[in-house]
Amino acid sequence: MNRRQFSKGVVVLAMGVRTGLAEDAAAGATAQPGTLYEEPARKLSAREFDVVVAGAGTAGVVAALASARQGARTVLVERKGYPGGTVVEGGTALHSFYNLWKAFPGVAKRQVVRGIPQEIIDRLAAVGATSGHAEMTKGFDYDSVCTAIDTELYKLVTFEMLAEAGVFVCVNTFLAGAILDGPRLRGVIAESRAGREAFLAKSFVDCTAYGDLAAHAGADYTEPNDYPVANSIGVANVDVEKYHEFLRSHGALTQVAEGRRSGKDGRIVRVDADAGRLPKAFAAGAGKIGMSLVTTTVHDNYFMFIKLNFKMRVSPTDRDESAKAELELRRRQAAAIELLREHVPGCEKAFIARTSPSLCIRRGRRIVCDYDITHEDVVEARHFPDDVLAYGFHDLAPRLQVRGGGTYGVPYRALCVAKTDNLFAAGMLITSDHRAHMSTRNTVCCMGQGQAAGTAAALSAARNCGTRELPYADLRKALEAAGVYFEA
Ligand SMILES: Cc1cc2nc3c(=O)[nH]c(=O)nc-3n(C[C@H](O)[C@H](O)[C@H](O)COP(=O)(O)OP(=O)(O)OC[C@H]3O[C@@H](n4cnc5c(N)ncnc54)[C@H](O)[C@@H]3O)c2cc1C
Repeated sequence: MNRRQFSKGVVVLAMGVRTGLAEDAAAGATAQPGTLYEEPARKLSAREFDVVVAGAGTAGVVAALASARQGARTVLVERKGYPGGTVVEGGTALHSFYNLWKAFPGVAKRQVVRGIPQEIIDRLAAVGATSGHAEMTKGFDYDSVCTAIDTELYKLVTFEMLAEAGVFVCVNTFLAGAILDGPRLRGVIAESRAGREAFLAKSFVDCTAYGDLAAHAGADYTEPNDYPVANSIGVANVDVEKYHEFLRSHGALTQVAEGRRSGKDGRIVRVDADAGRLPKAFAAGAGKIGMSLVTTTVHDNYFMFIKLNFKMRVSPTDRDESAKAELELRRRQAAAIELLREHVPGCEKAFIARTSPSLCIRRGRRIVCDYDITHEDVVEARHFPDDVLAYGFHDLAPRLQVRGGGTYGVPYRALCVAKTDNLFAAGMLITSDHRAHMSTRNTVCCMGQGQAAGTAAALSAARNCGTRELPYADLRKALEAAGVYFEA
């Protein structure tokens, strides 16, 4: 899809706007074909920045921190009331700060993602909000460590870090459009209860997960729709040891990690299991609602994430299909609690303590960038002359792993949005190959991409140059100075 087709889509959406007319209500708010509403032009108040980062999620928080720390006047636009994104709403643990050393005897343990992502973990550790990099004691052919987080404190800690760095954080603010000057972005349109306004800047980073900014800017994209949508819940009033014992006693345990939980080290912080070995009624019920058995925790009586999946027919950018999925996922959450209460010792009084505000998916739009990381790049541990980070985890391990427990490089070009002059992308929205994406989309890789894109955006803004004119040597120097690791 390209700019013209996306603009057409915007018009179609505009047709669904409620007018309050009687015939609109009678039509169930569905505009009739051919009904168009022409929005009057209006003058907006405009503010000037160096860098706009769209989306304060997994990658966006790090991008904004990196940009502001380079001295760029940075605005961060986030539609929710807090930073965090899918890292606090979707997954189980942050994969992965390390290489897969435990799966490859003789391979040295290395922390391959450092810099700002590690700083966030240090800040979380200081307030008891992470398991730390807890070593897997079972299932370490999947990952060597599990880094679990307290999702609520993650929001606070990252919010504070953004404030300390001087980022102008606009939460509850929706990025609704782009201001274009040929292939160059001049600004974004932001909407909040304060009204509609323009944020003008020199460089832009799209960290919206679904590529909203890139789509508005006319970038090419595809919508692979190759993952189920999900909404994960935090479940309280449970007994982690008893859950572990339930899985163990049926010979079903596939993963265990031990780390810091409720202030004590050496405690179980992650378990996963093979449902096929569990009592039939439980396994069948879990299968029916797409409930996965993996969970992590940093608190004694809490499962941080229980994931419920639902295969949606079309992309999450389809508002009306998404609405159906939102309802179905909430039904599944309630069913999951019933299953836990009925079948799992220690969960008799379980209840939902947290839900994600909206469904999550592992990708929506895939934005076309100057380089597309391939499956072979990942599994053959390839590096590039313009690497901006090293990464060593694959979510399909042990079936697919980065060769020899090593790392591959994410090239700078993979973050430069094609056909635009001054737009970067970071997060789940890059990488077209499904198998390669099963690596690059993981939280810690997204965070690393965020650091690279935010730094590059600030340096480009300072030089008043486009993404392709930024000297790589300057970027590399800045990333190394900020603690980024590059070894193969
Ligand atoms: C169900 C599920 C399970 C997963 N499990 C794991 C796991 O166990 N371990 C792991 O490492 N990874 C896991 N992942 C992958 C990983 O969590 C994501 O790929 C990663 O967090 C994506 O980061 P991101 O920065 O691209 O997007 P996000 O973190 O989603 O950030 C996007 C941000 O942009 C904001 N935004 C979007 N559109 C707009 C707009 N128009 N205006 C303003 N703000 C906007 C959003 O509100 C959000 O805060 C999982 C993902 C899912 C969906």
